[in-house]
Amino acid sequence: MSTRAITMFAHLRSTQPISRDVQIEAIAHRLGRFADCASREERSKRVALWSPVTYRPGTTRASRNVADVQWLVLDYDDGTPAKVARERWSRWIHIGHTTFSHMQERSNGNAPAPALRVVLPLARPVAAEVWPDVMRQVLSTVGTEADKKCIDPARMFYVPVAKPGAARAHWIHLPRDRFAGPLLNLDRVVERARQAVAEREAQASRRRAEVEKRRASMVRSNRDRDREVRRLLLEDGSARRQIGQTLGGHEVDRQSGSIVRGIVCPACSRPSVWFFVEPSQLRRAKCNHANSCGYTGHLWELASLHGYTF
Ligand SMILES: [Zn+2]
Repeated sequence: MSTRAITMFAHLRSTQPISRDVQIEAIAHRLGRFADCASREERSKRVALWSPVTYRPGTTRASRNVADVQWLVLDYDDGTPAKVARERWSRWIHIGHTTFSHMQERSNGNAPAPALRVVLPLARPVAAEVWPDVMRQVLSTVGTEADKKCIDPARMFYVPVAKPGAARAHWIHLPRDRFAGPLLNLDRVVERARQAVAEREAQASRRRAEVEKRRASMVRSNRDRDREVRRLLLEDGSARRQIGQTLGGHEVDRQSGSIVRGIVCPACSRPSVWFFVEPSQLRRAKCNHANSCGYTGHLWELASLHGYTF
């Protein structure tokens, strides 16, 4: 009950998580001990970071490797005064401390203002898969003042650090004057987040099924159309005449009936392929060079050998 897991990282570039269980009380006091750092660069090399999560054994720092989240951590960088943040979370055990930007000149030119972090041990760990949805809901009820970047379960936070001589503050809020509780319980938010995740997955799977159905019907309609084209090329004189022209042939009247001739033979490359316009006698096309080539094929084969697709 009184311990929660945290994960430490040696410095900003470290990807090796070191997870352990710690007493809530020990963390509460640890977050009141500030490191002194003259610059952000020095901070990135020297100051340890922590994540309010556990990692799956043998993994490195990444959202997908987080198993669960055991603390809610909120950054207030918009100048929210400590009194307001503390009041907001006063029903639950929480720890607050100032961050490196507290009362400092901001890189965006904004005037110095409070910069705070509020840390709440959770009544129950929350599975990492639903954490982003949980955080979105928490942030939407908290309002806009807390930093949205906290949504990522792999987010890590510096242990308290301030410039030498700079203002700093820390508080431990105990509603019952001891570490016994109450702890923030996110069960209902988690339930809603699970529903949201399930709905999104159902929607995605409906969309996939819809795409699959459209694809299948497209394949079917292509197949039907191919079949119809083949039928016409077998039976219909005007369709045969048309494909003959498309393939570069010309029509010649013969006693035995009109033929299309002069189509380049796909086998011997001479312009020697011909076929009857009316398919009553012979349906196939033939190369004139019966001995040296002997090519023969249906009109749709001839067309597709010429690169013509239906
Ligand atoms: Zn030929």
